[in-house]
Amino acid sequence: MTTIRNGSRILTVSMFLWLCTASNLVTAEDPNLNAADGYNPEALKSGRVDPSLHLQQGSNQLEAQKINPVIYKATGFGNTFMVITDEGNVIIDTSLPGMAVKHKSLLNAVNDGPIHSIIITHGHGDHTGGVALWREPETKVIAQQNMVEFLRYQKRLKGLFIQRNSAQFGFDLTSTSSSAASESSGVNMLPNTLFDKRLNFTLGQEKFEVLHTPAETYDALTVWMPEHKAAFVGDLFYRSFPNIYTLRGTKPRWALDYIDSINQVLALGPEILLPSHGEPILGNENINAEMTRYRDAIQYVHDETVKGMNEGRDVYSLMREIKLPKALDVGEAYGWVSWSVRGIYEGYMGWFDGDPVSMYAQSPQSIYADLVTLAGGAEKVISLAEQHLNEGDSVKALLLIEAAMATEPDNQAVLSMRLQILRVMRKASGNLNESGWLNHGIKQTQQKLSFSDDTRRK
Ligand SMILES: [Zn+2]
Repeated sequence: MTTIRNGSRILTVSMFLWLCTASNLVTAEDPNLNAADGYNPEALKSGRVDPSLHLQQGSNQLEAQKINPVIYKATGFGNTFMVITDEGNVIIDTSLPGMAVKHKSLLNAVNDGPIHSIIITHGHGDHTGGVALWREPETKVIAQQNMVEFLRYQKRLKGLFIQRNSAQFGFDLTSTSSSAASESSGVNMLPNTLFDKRLNFTLGQEKFEVLHTPAETYDALTVWMPEHKAAFVGDLFYRSFPNIYTLRGTKPRWALDYIDSINQVLALGPEILLPSHGEPILGNENINAEMTRYRDAIQYVHDETVKGMNEGRDVYSLMREIKLPKALDVGEAYGWVSWSVRGIYEGYMGWFDGDPVSMYAQSPQSIYADLVTLAGGAEKVISLAEQHLNEGDSVKALLLIEAAMATEPDNQAVLSMRLQILRVMRKASGNLNESGWLNHGIKQTQQKLSFSDDTRRK
């Protein structure tokens, strides 16, 4: 087991500007694959989930992992791959800026030949972070053509993504020291070689087929090396249900794109599957079994959501009711089925739920204060919240406290109850992203408590 260090020590907010959604959720199953052990999945089971954990992956790696004689991997959030050829090397994904330096030194220790091409599986920051570092004057930087707009979209919403990523991943917004460095690498990371559906090329003895496989993003690609039967799938596959919606915010991610793209990869008959997060899967039988189950889990959630929508069911009911059948249970340590249900529902239909009251600019929260007054004040609401919490319904308890906070935002008893509820939920959480947002709420409440405490003393 690895000692867990504070994520903020090695990574700063700027690195998370375009952070995507992923995690290394298992260690290598094949003993020949020498997994770096920077992540401890046991923590998930024990409730000690720390969202910064997945940023520690590969921190103990001392040498690049050899996949076969020409393919090497540096482990991180995410991984960097190198393919060695006689006509220069090919880098596939480049990790976060803060990890790229180490990845480059690990991979250069294997082979420090010229970099012919860098292939970016999609435009999230944990894949593009080291492009500027690896790039040489003649290097081709290859991406699917939709990446151009995808990068513009992320830049357009940069201010909000910084806030959301720092909340979800637990960073201090004041530590923005390297944001300038990250910004200046922005131009150098832009691709100079774009394709639409497919791009084939041969370097030395090695054949490369680059295929458009949209899923988590619409610029996603897969690199296929037919001679090695190796597929570099980027974020098309995780060992958890995927984030068909991610809490830090995203455009709709189309479930049916995942299905089509997974089918495209399965049809290639891969013997080596190389995701950008987590460890490789070896052997066509294993790959088929894992990817098929994963694909069918996505299809199931999609189909159940669509069925419920056509029956006129509301989104919250479907979020509560749709569960993966046992045979398709791929785990929810990273993505969560209920968020995906809502992502699919609102991806298809947008935000309006068909209730006339939802047409207007007043939120349900705008009448919380009235309701709390009617109920007889915040004390009564706290008491009911406590009752729900003791009965195991922490979400209802939290909702009541939200109402009480609307009436008395600085009430110590209200804030203390909120803190208590959030801590109970945090302890029970086995999902990295949920834990991140609960931690954020705990921190906010603690700050408010100490602030109102100070104010009272003055
Ligand atoms: Zn990623």
